Amino acid sequence: MRLALPAGLALCVMLLAGCSPNVDYQRIEGQTMGTRYHISYASLGKATAPAALQAAVDARLEAINRSMSTYRDDSVITAFNRAPVGQPVAIDADFAQVLRLARQVRQDSAGAFDPAVAELVDLWGFGARRSVQQMMSIPDANAIEAARGRSNFDAVTQPEPLTLVKTGAVRLDFSAIAKGYGVDAIAALLREHGVAHYMVEIGGEVAVSGNNPRGGPWRIGIEAPQAARGRTLTMLNLHEAAMATSGDYRNYIEIDGQRYAHIIDPRTGYPVRQTPTSVTVLASSVALADAWATAFMVLDPERAQELARQHGLAVYWVVTNPQGELSSRFSPAMQAHLGTR
Ligand code: AMP
Ligand code: MG
Repeated sequence: MRLALPAGLALCVMLLAGCSPNVDYQRIEGQTMGTRYHISYASLGKATAPAALQAAVDARLEAINRSMSTYRDDSVITAFNRAPVGQPVAIDADFAQVLRLARQVRQDSAGAFDPAVAELVDLWGFGARRSVQQMMSIPDANAIEAARGRSNFDAVTQPEPLTLVKTGAVRLDFSAIAKGYGVDAIAALLREHGVAHYMVEIGGEVAVSGNNPRGGPWRIGIEAPQAARGRTLTMLNLHEAAMATSGDYRNYIEIDGQRYAHIIDPRTGYPVRQTPTSVTVLASSVALADAWATAFMVLDPERAQELARQHGLAVYWVVTNPQGELSSRFSPAMQAHLGTR
C-alpha cells in the first residue's frame, strides 16, 4: 500500500526570454486550492503593479475557496453537504455559476462527470478526510451501492437562483471543476485591470490571452508523466485559450498493488480503471475544460471521441499500452493548435 504524490505537472509553460519593447511582463505566484498558481502578464503601469494585483488575486481566490472548497469547514459547499434534507441553503454567485456549468457537463457527458459524487469520493478515501483503513482496503460492495444511490444530482434543487434545497441525502464535490473556474475568475480580474496579455495557471489548468513576452503565441507543452522522464509530447501555440488536464498519474492511490485514480465512474460507484494516462481539453472556459477533462477520464475511447466531435472540443489523449509505451491521439478541433516543438 502506498500513497502517491502527484508525480509532477502535466504541463510546462514555456516563457521564452526577452521582452517586446515598452511592455514589461510581470510574474505573480502563490498558493491556492492545495496547489500553486502562476500568473505572467503584460504590465501597463501602476494599475497593474504586481503587489496590488496579487492582493486582488488572493482575495478573489479566497472567496472562491470559501464558496466551494470541500476541505474547509466554513465553506458554502460544506454547509450544503451538512444540511438536512429540505433545509434551504444560501449560495453565492460563484457557486451558482459553477453549479450551472457542472450541470451542463454532467448532461452533455451522459453522467461521466457528476458533481454529486462526493459521498463516493469520501467512501473510497479520495476526499478531504482519509482513514488508515481506507488506505488499506477497498470499501464494502453494499456500502458502495448505498453511496451510489445517494449520489443523485437530481436531488439538488434550486428554488431560487441563490438558494439550494436537497430532496435526498446528496452531497456535492466541485474538485473537478473549481480549479478551472478559479483560472477563469483570475483571467476576468486581469481583464478588469486592463491586462490584455496574460497566462494564468492553477495546478496545471491554464488560461492564456494575447501574446507571450516575445510577442508570439503562448507555448504550452503537454508532457509525458515523469515515469517517461517528463518528455514533452507536443507543444500547443495559443493566443486565446482555456485549457485543463486530468491524468491518472497526477492523483492516485494504490491498494494491494492495484492502482486507483481519484476519479469515480458515477454510473458504477467504482474508481475508473482503464483510463487514459492524461487528457487535455481546450474549451470556451477553463471551468468547462476542467470538467470535460475529468469526464474524458471516465468515458470509453469511442464515446469520448464522439462527444469531443459533437461538442467541438479540442482534446488530446495520452495513452499507455500494457508494454508501457506512450501514444497520443487527438480530436479534429485539436489539430489547429498542434505546433512544432
Ligand atoms: P480532476 O483532477 O479535475 O480530474 O478532478 C478529480 C477530482 O474530482 C477527484 O479528486 C474527486 O474529488 C472529484 N471527482 C472524482 N470523480 C468525479 C466525476 N466522475 N465527476 C466529477 N468529479 C469527480
Ligand atoms: Mg477536472
